[in-house]
Amino acid sequence: MKYREIKRCGNIKVSEIALGCEGFIGKSREEYISMTDKAFELGINFIDMYTSDPEFRSNFGAAIKGRRDRIVLQGHIGSAWENGQYLRTRNVEKVKIAFEDQLKRLGTDYIDIGMIHYVDGMEDFERIFGGKFIEYCSTLKQKGIIRALGMSSHNPIVALKAVETGLIDVLMFSVNAAYDMQPPSENVDDLFESENYKNGFVNADPDRTKLYEYCAGKGIAIDVMKAFGGGDMLSAELSPFGVAFNEYQCIEYCLTRPAVVSVMAGCHSAKEMEKLAGYYAASKADKDYSAVLSKMDKFKFHGNCMYCGHCAPCTAGINIADVNKYLNLSLAQGNVPETVADHYRIMEHHAGECIECGRCEKNCPFDVEIINKMKKAKEIFGY
Ligand code: SF4
Ligand code: SF4
Repeated sequence: MKYREIKRCGNIKVSEIALGCEGFIGKSREEYISMTDKAFELGINFIDMYTSDPEFRSNFGAAIKGRRDRIVLQGHIGSAWENGQYLRTRNVEKVKIAFEDQLKRLGTDYIDIGMIHYVDGMEDFERIFGGKFIEYCSTLKQKGIIRALGMSSHNPIVALKAVETGLIDVLMFSVNAAYDMQPPSENVDDLFESENYKNGFVNADPDRTKLYEYCAGKGIAIDVMKAFGGGDMLSAELSPFGVAFNEYQCIEYCLTRPAVVSVMAGCHSAKEMEKLAGYYAASKADKDYSAVLSKMDKFKFHGNCMYCGHCAPCTAGINIADVNKYLNLSLAQGNVPETVADHYRIMEHHAGECIECGRCEKNCPFDVEIINKMKKAKEIFGY
């Protein structure tokens, strides 16, 4: 397992492959414990708990008893339980009761990431950030009851508004190659609506690209939901591309987006966890999402770097995908953010070392003009 850092809040280290909680629902307490054992054995140390189901909270609390410090908990604020059912609420009294119930049932006095639950609409955003809800979240953070504040969303415009407030440390966002083609909507169901894909794909949606780059520039971590599009990406019939991706291609795609720290996967068994952890032993070909994307007639990422790494090895040893990532981040910000400058500085080889041999351009499936990118990077970073 590999780990990445959530930097804004005391460098919380999270596993690249993490868990959603849906796979636990309906299981016995013994199964909760054995699945948690398996997660730890595989090095998975991070879980999202969007559900307010009291059974989940009590059983998971039992599963982490005595080992709370080994797990990073992402618990939601605004996900409540009423009349035996899940309820998304902005009523601060209900929010408080649900959050306190979460702490109690989990047997802990803190949640690592307090995640404002599911904000897709602009009105909802304004209600939350303009009133008592955000005050409650800030108080939780001041008191150390949450270490970091997050927000979950499927809408890049709303998500960008939220991260621009400066209050958000972690964004939980739906990311996969298909969603990245879709314009923003307040309705999450639009993301896989076949009608929206009928004209083919031209490029990544600029609002999504802007969001990822903004987060990377500000050190805001993204953890990913819907990496497999609820399973649709894994099926040739259901995927809007008409081609099935495998799990490793989906994970690789997400982990190579700027700012992403983890992919939260809803594993239903120890076997499914083992399969996902097999990502690290999988061959390059098995992880290669570009092989799927670049061959599709209706899909054109022409000229845009997809950070797939196909151009490697560079004759001069430059990590071209990373240079392109830092270059795009800086161009998007209109300057070179300090963190990006630092990442660039510690690279072993820099864009200025490019000898213009052209080898990389022959290998790029997306026709990126790499030599020009290296020149631009040299101009911007100075070496
Ligand atoms: S330049 Fe091309 S091959 Fe290299 S990472 Fe970008 S898209 Fe992939
Ligand atoms: S053209 Fe530059 S970046 Fe590409 S392989 Fe040659 S030295 Fe590396």
